[in-house]
Amino acid sequence: MSQKVSIIGAGISGLTAGICLSKKNIPSIIYERNHAISDVSAGINLSPNATNLLKNIGVLEDLISLGHQPSNVIFRDHKGNKISSYALNMGDRYFLTLNRNKLIGLLYEKYKELGGEVIFNRNVKDFENDCNLSKGKSIEANMIFGCDGINSSLRAKKFNPKSPLFSGFIAWRSIKEFSTPFEENNGEDINFYLGPNSHIVTYPIGEKIYSATCIIKSSDWIDESWILEGSKVEFKYDFKDWNNELITYLADSKLYKWGIFQRSPLESFSTNNIFLLGDSAHAMVPFLGQGSCLAIEDSYCLAEVLDKKESNDDAKKIFDDLRISRCKNIYRRSLIQAKLNHISNPILTFLRNKLLSHLPIADFMVRDIHNYDLDSEIKKII
Ligand SMILES: Cc1cc2nc3c(=O)[nH]c(=O)nc-3n(C[C@H](O)[C@H](O)[C@H](O)COP(=O)(O)OP(=O)(O)OC[C@H]3O[C@@H](n4cnc5c(N)ncnc54)[C@H](O)[C@@H]3O)c2cc1C
Repeated sequence: MSQKVSIIGAGISGLTAGICLSKKNIPSIIYERNHAISDVSAGINLSPNATNLLKNIGVLEDLISLGHQPSNVIFRDHKGNKISSYALNMGDRYFLTLNRNKLIGLLYEKYKELGGEVIFNRNVKDFENDCNLSKGKSIEANMIFGCDGINSSLRAKKFNPKSPLFSGFIAWRSIKEFSTPFEENNGEDINFYLGPNSHIVTYPIGEKIYSATCIIKSSDWIDESWILEGSKVEFKYDFKDWNNELITYLADSKLYKWGIFQRSPLESFSTNNIFLLGDSAHAMVPFLGQGSCLAIEDSYCLAEVLDKKESNDDAKKIFDDLRISRCKNIYRRSLIQAKLNHISNPILTFLRNKLLSHLPIADFMVRDIHNYDLDSEIKKII
């Protein structure tokens, strides 16, 4: 089937989709509302379910040189005491931590190398016949990929008009540059601190650069934004019962405050000639670090399915069969993870920490997510 695809949004899903389509000789063009590729600085982790796919499309080798490979995940209580740990990056199962602007920059370069084009300053809101843009320069496409993120106008117009929902969590984020790690031991690992109604994750995203994401339960609604600065006083107040040295260390950098929103997965990720990928299809709370990983899976999967299937209807059904239950499952488990991370009852906290320290359950809770092999799942169906 001869295809041409318009992709809305040059984020992680849009650029990965563009690369995957180019690899299948399916032409595409990406429309991005901003004037350039996003240079927002924030930490991101990519687990083997996504890095394996990035390897297949020729992106992983360069990505490894731009990021960091932590050896362990260390669980600690909110005073800093170690509870348990498990190992990462064994064999060829890459687990990376890096700055998301490096990931997006690399995906953009790869897409261009393969002949792809991104048209900037193009805020796409209108479509003709569900496949062509109604204004400005565009290609005659027979398909649209909605990769326009959590506030997707495609989703609102063509699928479901409901707005994203505030999850009841706020994230404080910071990047510490030219810094040393807080933990003298295990500073180069992922340190996961669990506190009452809150948790903090720190990891290196390069040499002498550390990312921290500090999550707190909140009934106050604030914007979903990568660039809203917060005050140190407020940050210290939010984490007042925590290890003071850790909080002082984290507060000594620019702090960004972010309301976490979600959009529940749809019953189908396609209608007519439109497919939704990434956050537009299933924006979830980030407590299993899977939003971008699933965006990469969606993009890879759809290109494979379109390449192998003769009819659009077959492709739509197979894409839903492969993606809906996996995305719903991780959406739900991300919310459960928040409950486990944020236990405040002292007896339950004691029990959780005992379980974590005596059983290999921390690894077990995410093992099936990280071990998921999309290629073999596709082979089973097609
Ligand atoms: C605090 C936090 C921490 C996270 N940590 C991780 C992590 O460690 N690992 C992980 O895998 N995921 C993580 N995530 C999730 C991850 O950031 C998202 O799932 C991912 O960015 C989704 O990619 P996307 O391409 O679907 O959307 P986006 O990254 O939002 O990209 C959408 C693009 O579309 C453009 N756009 C929007 N509307 C239009 C329009 N109308 N016309 C044209 N262009 C448009 C935007 O400008 C943007 O470039 C985290 C999220 C949060 C909130």
